[in-house]
Amino acid sequence: MSIQANLEQVKDTFINPACLLVAVSKTKPVSAIEEAYAAGIRDFGENKVQELTEKQALLPEDIRWHMIGHLQRNKVKFIAPFVHLIHGVDTFKLLLEINKQAEKANRKISCLLQVHIATEDTKFGFSPEELLDLVQSSAYAELNHIQVRGLMGMATNTENQERVKAEFASLKKLLAEMNRLSLPSNTQMDELSMGMSGDYLLAQEEGSTMVRIGSAIFGNRNYR
Ligand SMILES: *Cc1c(COP(=O)(O)O)cnc(C)c1O
Repeated sequence: MSIQANLEQVKDTFINPACLLVAVSKTKPVSAIEEAYAAGIRDFGENKVQELTEKQALLPEDIRWHMIGHLQRNKVKFIAPFVHLIHGVDTFKLLLEINKQAEKANRKISCLLQVHIATEDTKFGFSPEELLDLVQSSAYAELNHIQVRGLMGMATNTENQERVKAEFASLKKLLAEMNRLSLPSNTQMDELSMGMSGDYLLAQEEGSTMVRIGSAIFGNRNYR
């Protein structure tokens, strides 16, 4: 099927039509992005800085680029001038660097804080306790070139739907819990980035506001 047909099929299944579809184009050629762009998609997700910057230079300026992968501090400077949203912020040190590079680029950079919700220990992210401490610390409140917009999480890669659902539910609960705190002005807890090709419907049932979908749109990836 064509990318456009895949997009229509995915969107038709959405439980929440207001949920933002971030088309994950990692490993896919510029021509595939152009096809999705022609079908109306403006939000694209990449997980490698080099690939992201190369594609950004070649593609229309109104694309909103989402950095969805693990981000190394020494690479923040390459995306700081243009990135729309950084999904996977998982350490305070990374936030500091994003703040610094955003200031240099004379902008505010939107971020999501990644929470470790999966039971697998290989996934990145803050624990709920770390997160609650972080947003209440004075060092965090001083970062005025970042804007934290919510949370991001990845569920365990398992067939067990109840488990995946419970993990997404835990992220939603944490968002609500954070909204009961008095948060600093660099933080709004509105967005929940959760759900990929295999679990985006479960994520939407649990209140996802943005889903990151790759293979269901662009087909399977060939990793090197
Ligand atoms: C690759 C990736 C996705 C998309 O995965 P699909 O299963 O192809 O939809 C979503 N989020 C992150 C963080 C990814 O790295």
